[in-house]
Amino acid sequence: MKLPAFEYACPTTLAEAVTLLAAHDGEAKAIAGGQSLVPMLAFRIASPSLLVDLRKLPGLDAIRIDDSGVRLGAMVRWRDILDDARLVRAHPLLVAAVRHVAHYQIRNRGTVGGSIAHADPAAEMPGIVVACDAEIAVTGKAGARVIPANEFFVGALTTTLAPDEIITEIRLPAWPAGRRFGFEEFALRRGDFAIAAAAVFYDQDSAGGAANAHVGVIGVGDRPARLAPVEAVLNGARVDADVIARAAAATSAAVEPPEDIHASAAYRRSLVGTMVERALLAAAA
Ligand SMILES: Cc1cc2nc3c(=O)[nH]c(=O)nc-3n(C[C@H](O)[C@H](O)[C@H](O)COP(=O)(O)OP(=O)(O)OC[C@H]3O[C@@H](n4cnc5c(N)ncnc54)[C@H](O)[C@@H]3O)c2cc1C
Repeated sequence: MKLPAFEYACPTTLAEAVTLLAAHDGEAKAIAGGQSLVPMLAFRIASPSLLVDLRKLPGLDAIRIDDSGVRLGAMVRWRDILDDARLVRAHPLLVAAVRHVAHYQIRNRGTVGGSIAHADPAAEMPGIVVACDAEIAVTGKAGARVIPANEFFVGALTTTLAPDEIITEIRLPAWPAGRRFGFEEFALRRGDFAIAAAAVFYDQDSAGGAANAHVGVIGVGDRPARLAPVEAVLNGARVDADVIARAAAATSAAVEPPEDIHASAAYRRSLVGTMVERALLAAAA
């Protein structure tokens, strides 16, 4: 289908890009990889008067790793993550999740910033940033600010980003050596969006129990979420078969999934429990 008509700009500075977005009063949209926005244009779900291409903005495609953690520039593509051998150690949960994102061609174009801004509740990256307590750095006409991931997503395809704000960086806290983790996803085909997925990790206390447990779920609500009741089952406990079974049951009890053409609410509720169970089995192994 042909796209609706729009103006196009390709600024070379962040300030210029913000000015262009601000001047169009919500009628302009940033474009990064175009892998979500272009289908939205084709289906007339969005029809901005101006597209502001972010590809020439300097410094947004860097992956930085230091003692504070991993910082992904907003224009980092899925392929960049999978090609960066450092990340397997610096953030193995991120790498495990990105392996499920889309298909070869889309991974060459799609960006982490675009995924976060698009806020699909079944997408992997929004789930990872929420599960990992990441921070989203953004810049708009009012200046720069940092948004905790758990305050960023408002609902399906809706975030707290102002129309003139551009995501510049995603900051994932440092990943200690020895941390246990698992990522499990069920999709109709490899590379499709998740019907349900789970991202879990925990550290271990001196008695061998789980500590700092984080349990994130994807595809079972209007936004990704951490499940405090499940984390409470894990914290302080040895993660054995009994605890994993209780965590899986607590997961199914804690979610209110939607029903759609792919799955009923009851199926998703059961499935996400299984995803958490498998992720914990992988973490404990
Ligand atoms: C067939 C198909 C299968 C897919 N499967 C999956 C999947 O399994 N999992 C998954 O997670 N994704 C999937 N995707 C989506 C893909 O990962 C997209 O690349 C991603 O969601 C959006 O990234 P993008 O760079 O292409 O953003 P774009 O399409 O360019 O933009 C998306 C939205 O984000 C905004 N935006 C982009 N960058 C910024 C920024 N820096 N600051 C502020 N706003 C910004 C745009 O204005 C737009 O509203 C799939 C896409 C297709 C077409």
